[in-house]
Amino acid sequence: MTKEPENNLMEKIVALSKRRGFVYQGSEIYGGLSGTWDYGPLGVALKKNIENLWWKRFVSDREDMYGVDAAILMNQEVWKASGHTTTFSDPLVECMKCKRRFRADQLTDPKTCPDCKGKLGEARQFNMMFKTHSGATEDETAVSYLRPETAGGMFVNFKNVLDSLHPKLPFGLAQIGKAFRNEIAPRDFIFRVRELEQMEIEYFIPEKLWEEQFEYWRKEMLDWMKSIGLSSSKIHELEVAPEDRAHYSKRTIDFEFDFPFGRKELYGLAYRTDFDLTNHSKASGVDLSYFDDETKERFMPHVIEPTFGVGRTMLALLCDAYTEDTLGEEPRIFLKLSPAVAPVKVAVFPLLKNKPQLVEKAKEVFTMLKKEFGAVVFDDNGNIGKRYRRQDEIGTPFCITVDFDTVEKDAGVTVRGRDTGKQERVVISELSAFLKKALS
Ligand code: ATP
Repeated sequence: MTKEPENNLMEKIVALSKRRGFVYQGSEIYGGLSGTWDYGPLGVALKKNIENLWWKRFVSDREDMYGVDAAILMNQEVWKASGHTTTFSDPLVECMKCKRRFRADQLTDPKTCPDCKGKLGEARQFNMMFKTHSGATEDETAVSYLRPETAGGMFVNFKNVLDSLHPKLPFGLAQIGKAFRNEIAPRDFIFRVRELEQMEIEYFIPEKLWEEQFEYWRKEMLDWMKSIGLSSSKIHELEVAPEDRAHYSKRTIDFEFDFPFGRKELYGLAYRTDFDLTNHSKASGVDLSYFDDETKERFMPHVIEPTFGVGRTMLALLCDAYTEDTLGEEPRIFLKLSPAVAPVKVAVFPLLKNKPQLVEKAKEVFTMLKKEFGAVVFDDNGNIGKRYRRQDEIGTPFCITVDFDTVEKDAGVTVRGRDTGKQERVVISELSAFLKKALS
């Protein structure tokens, strides 16, 4: 079994994603819209599995976490107070010859155009927030921004949650949702896009706990990556230097992943101090401090922020899982996805589609498994080899075939494992238990 050489691996992943219905180019029939991608049926299933696992682990299974789902459009004062209107920018340079634009900090030679070798102009700061107007007027008072991170929606709701549920510190707010960044150079498939999705936590703590909580969340993030099946050897921690940290952060770790196009940020962990609550208190005039019933002290909570990009998680999983098997009779491609995230868990086939007794029995097995495992598909299209290839390419862990022995001799079904191609016979009454164990 071989891993694909890295240079053309991305092309193959992009092609597979389109072919099998994971990810399509945004607005494709009109020539696309740079930095946007649409998720197809398999992509949505993979994305939802990631989000559901995340929500279960970090919200539902905990007693100190509260979910919110805030509006994407927010009052412009939010982004003034958080510093985004003045500092959420990247250095932009334009080629004086071909007029193409680049992010200055991503160029090896900041003076020469990487495309036409023309001279690059002076760098200027380009604010990445998408600006729009809310309502029928288009003056400055109606300006609104599509949120550039989901965090803002949690800080402005801090007091609401305190007032309605009275949580005790430390506790967290969590949110999964869209964010928008007008990236100068969207690239690398779904890695750098203009419309993205984040899974974020703002964990509120007394200041004195920041170091231990930072360490706790660092380990939680590593555990999460392991739990969804990412290879630990491809994950690296980068302590971000003070001059490279976001304006609100006193300590940041980037979790980087070895993508085929290089080692790049997958997730971030930041200590945001009391920057956000303090600034929103000052700007809004609403006191966002916390009163501790036990110590009788009032203070501004500090914040540890673990942040996870949904698209980057999906891309890391696809890159890590893509495998070409050249050892068998026929070379095959398969996605070695962990069953927890795999969009389809089990596929059921009748050996032949024109034999009603096989189709009927296969449908029976399919209905039984669908009730229990949900993401189960029925496929009778093409020969068995083709059906295996199709399921391999979308990462289905198990394929089940109903044949003549199943119906004539009550001899069970054939269960074939994706990674090894190994086949074994399992009696139908034990199939559920067998799969439950194998998928867990
Ligand atoms: P980068 O340095 O790659 O631009 P960032 O440091 O600006 O990322 P954060 O502001 O920390 O990113 O955003 C939190 C997370 O959101 C990132 O770790 C990443 O997973 C995701 N993310 C940020 N920008 C994008 C983008 N343009 N496209 C896809 N995901 C993104």
